[in-house]
Amino acid sequence: MERLLLVDMDKCTGCKQCSLACSLIKEDLFDPHRGRIKILKREDIALGIQLLCEQCDAHPCIDACPDNALSRNDDTGIITVNIDTCSSCDSCVKACPYHGIRLHPETGKPLICDLCGGDPYCVQHCVPGALCWIDATDDLMKQKKKLRSARMAKYRDLKKEAAK
Ligand code: SF4
Repeated sequence: MERLLLVDMDKCTGCKQCSLACSLIKEDLFDPHRGRIKILKREDIALGIQLLCEQCDAHPCIDACPDNALSRNDDTGIITVNIDTCSSCDSCVKACPYHGIRLHPETGKPLICDLCGGDPYCVQHCVPGALCWIDATDDLMKQKKKLRSARMAKYRDLKKEAAK
């Protein structure tokens, strides 16, 4: 059965354990700036917003890449980066509507969640259960989209507030 990553902002404490776990498994060091999941945190209102690749059908990142360095697995939605052809131009970062891509601080290549190939390591380290890896049902697919819309709306609000 297909699985999905359910990401719930309301349960997130902003602890960044997910980013740290991700950087450890992918980069062999603890550095939230190298995690494929990033957390926008507002300490004063105890808010954390998880930002990561959503494996979306529309894949604007792929369309925006001038080097054809990104490809998508149609079954899993996972985006793969060809680091040999990627020129680190940042176009995918700007194109992602979910703010789910960033460039590696040293290599400049895109960091994109690959769901750890089917067993996301971050989920094991999210104590409040704000990240869940579960069997996909139609209802849960709808819930995932609803939760994502709420996260993006909150993200936009915070950015607007910060720009004032
Ligand atoms: S580990 Fe869970 S609670 Fe902590 S920041 Fe990540 S998603 Fe939020």
